[in-house]
Amino acid sequence: MRTLLVVAGVLGIALAPAPPRETAAPAEYPIKAVALTDVQVTDAFWAPRIATNRTVTIPHIIAENEKTGRVDNFRKAARTLQGPYQGQRYNDTDVYKIIEAASWSLAKYPDPALDRTLDELIAIVAAAQEPDGYIYTPRTVDPATPAAGAGPERWSWLHTSHELYDQGHLYEAAVAYFQATGKRTLLQVAIKSADLVCRTFGPNGRRDVPGHEEIELALVKLARVTGDRKYLDEAKFFLDERGRRHGVEHPTFEPGSRFFMYNDLAYRQDETPVTAQLQAVGHAVRATYLYSAMTDAATLLDDPAYARAVRALFADVTSKRMYVTGGLGSEGRTEAFGPDYVLPNRAYAETCASVGGILWYHRLFLREGRADAIDTLERTLYNGYLSGVSLAGNTFFYQNPLVSNGTLQRSEYFDVACCPANLSRLMAQLPGLIYAQQPGIVYVNLFVGSSARVYEAGKVIRISQATNYPWQGEVHMTVRPERQMDFTLALRIPSWAQGRPVISDLYRYAAPRYAPPVLRVNGAVVPIALTDGYARVRRRWKKGDVVDLSLPMPVQRVLAHDGVAEDRGKAALQRGPIVYCLEAIDNGGSVSTIRLPLDAATAHAFRSDLLNGVETITVTTGDRTVVAIPDYAWNNRGKGEMAVWVRY
Ligand SMILES: [Zn+2]
Repeated sequence: MRTLLVVAGVLGIALAPAPPRETAAPAEYPIKAVALTDVQVTDAFWAPRIATNRTVTIPHIIAENEKTGRVDNFRKAARTLQGPYQGQRYNDTDVYKIIEAASWSLAKYPDPALDRTLDELIAIVAAAQEPDGYIYTPRTVDPATPAAGAGPERWSWLHTSHELYDQGHLYEAAVAYFQATGKRTLLQVAIKSADLVCRTFGPNGRRDVPGHEEIELALVKLARVTGDRKYLDEAKFFLDERGRRHGVEHPTFEPGSRFFMYNDLAYRQDETPVTAQLQAVGHAVRATYLYSAMTDAATLLDDPAYARAVRALFADVTSKRMYVTGGLGSEGRTEAFGPDYVLPNRAYAETCASVGGILWYHRLFLREGRADAIDTLERTLYNGYLSGVSLAGNTFFYQNPLVSNGTLQRSEYFDVACCPANLSRLMAQLPGLIYAQQPGIVYVNLFVGSSARVYEAGKVIRISQATNYPWQGEVHMTVRPERQMDFTLALRIPSWAQGRPVISDLYRYAAPRYAPPVLRVNGAVVPIALTDGYARVRRRWKKGDVVDLSLPMPVQRVLAHDGVAEDRGKAALQRGPIVYCLEAIDNGGSVSTIRLPLDAATAHAFRSDLLNGVETITVTTGDRTVVAIPDYAWNNRGKGEMAVWVRY
C-alpha cells in the first residue's frame, strides 16, 4: 500500500504491479507530484475547506444521487429494482465522480463509515455491468427504449450518447478507490469495461470517437495502475482518430432541440486532427479533458506533435480566452470557447471547465517544469473554481459569471449535475497540488500552510510551510532532510508578484506598483534569479534550515486587453492571487452604477467576522467608500447584484 500511495498524487499515478504487455515501456512525466498522502494541510484557508468537503459536500452529493434516482438507475439495470431509467444519459458519472472524490478523501482521512458506503455503492455499480463488460445504465435499464440521446444500439451515437465519457469516469473512480483502499472491486469492473472498449474500438475495429472526451485521460490512468500498455494505446487511438468528422451520418437533430449543437463538429472537437487544433474551440470542459490527455500522450509516448499542440493551446487559452478569474468558456448556449477576446461577463465559465483547466495545467507543469502553468492553476483555483461552492459546502454554481443582476443563486443540485462532484474530487486532491519533485529538485508550487514528506535519493526530506496566504504573502518554510543533502529548492515566484496579473497580455495592472519579492535563507537575503518562473536555491541543506519568502500584496487595479469589448473602461480589483468583486449587500443594495476612478484610494483589512474570514478591499471615492470581497465568496449572504469589472 505504502509504495502505491507514495506516487498516488493528483494524476493517480501508480507503478505497475504487472509487467506491460508491450515491450516498449511508456515514458513518464519528468516531474512527479508529491502525493496527497504525503502532504498534511494545516492552514486556515484550505484545511477547513477540505474538511467541509469531507463532512458536508461528499455526504450531500451521495444523498442527492440517491434522492434523484441516479443510484436507482444502477439497481434498475441490475434488475433489483423495477422502473424506467431516470434523468440524463450521463447521470452514471455523478455516482462515479463522487466515488472518486470520496476515495481521495479516504486516502487521506480514514473513515470506516464512508468506506462502507463506498463498498455498498460499488456493489450496486458492479451489479449493473452486463456479462461482456458493457456498463451504461441509460441503455441497460431498458435496451428497447434507451434514454434520450443514447442512440438505438450500443455505441451507435457516440457523438451524443456520452457512453464512452461514462466509462472514463468509471475508470478514474476505480483507480482512485484502488489507490486509496487497495481494494480491486471497482477496478475489476473498470478493466472489464475497458477490455470491451479495446475489443470494440481501434485501428482494426470500429473507428469512432466519443462526443465528450474523458475516456482518453482515464485510459492512461488505467494503463498506469494495471501496467497494461494496451489502454495507453487505446487512449492514443481515440486521440489520433479525432478530427475525422465522425457522426455526421447520424440523424440530424432539429434546430431548437436540446441536441442540435452535437451536429457541430467544432463543438465536440472533431473537425480537425487534434495535433492541428492550435486554437481552443468547442465545449470548454471537453477541451480541457482532451488537452489533458494530449499532454499525457505528448509525455508518455514522447510525441512532439502533441507536445507542440498543447503548448500552443495553452498560449491560446491564456492569451485570448480566459476570464480574469481563470474561468473558461464564454458561450452560454454551447458551453464553449468563443472567438478571440470575446469574454462577456455574464460568462459561462462552468465549474467543470475550471476543474478541467486545473488538471490540464498541472500536467503541463509536470511535463515542462514551468511556473506559468501553476500561475494559471493558482488563479483558477482561488477564483473561478472556488466560486463553484458555497462556504457551507452544500450549494453550487454550474456557471461562474463575473456579473449578476441579482437573480443568480447557488443550487443544492442540478438536473445536469456534473459540477458538484467534479469540484469535490478536485478539493479532495488539493494536497497533491502543493509540492512536486524530480531528482535533485523539490518544487514548492502553492503557498499553503502544510507539511510534506519528500523522498529524495532514498532519503526523506520534510518540508513545512507556515503562512496566512492568500491574505498575506509571507511564507515561512522549514527544511528538514534526514541527513545533510544537496538539492535545489524551487520556489514559484507568481507572475502576480512580478507586475503581471497573468502570464499573457490579456490582463495587466493599471499602475504596476509593487515591491519585488524577497527571499531569505537562514535570515540572509538571497538574490532571486528566475528560471522558468522559479527561484532556485541549491545548497547543502541541513535539518532546521529556514527559508522565508515575502511576496508583497498591494491592492491592484486590473485592466483587460483592449480586445475585450465588455471590459473597456472598466477595472477589476486584485490582491495577491485573489480577484475581488463588489456585492450589493456591502454597498447599499446595488453595484451596477458604481464608478471607481483608477486613482481612488484603496485599503485592505482582514475581517474575521465576515464570510469565514476574508481580506476585504475598500475603495474611497469622493465621500463614498466601496467595499469589495473575494469573488469566490459572493452569494453567501443571499441574492444581490455583483460585479467584478467596475467602470472607472
Ligand atoms: Zn459541470
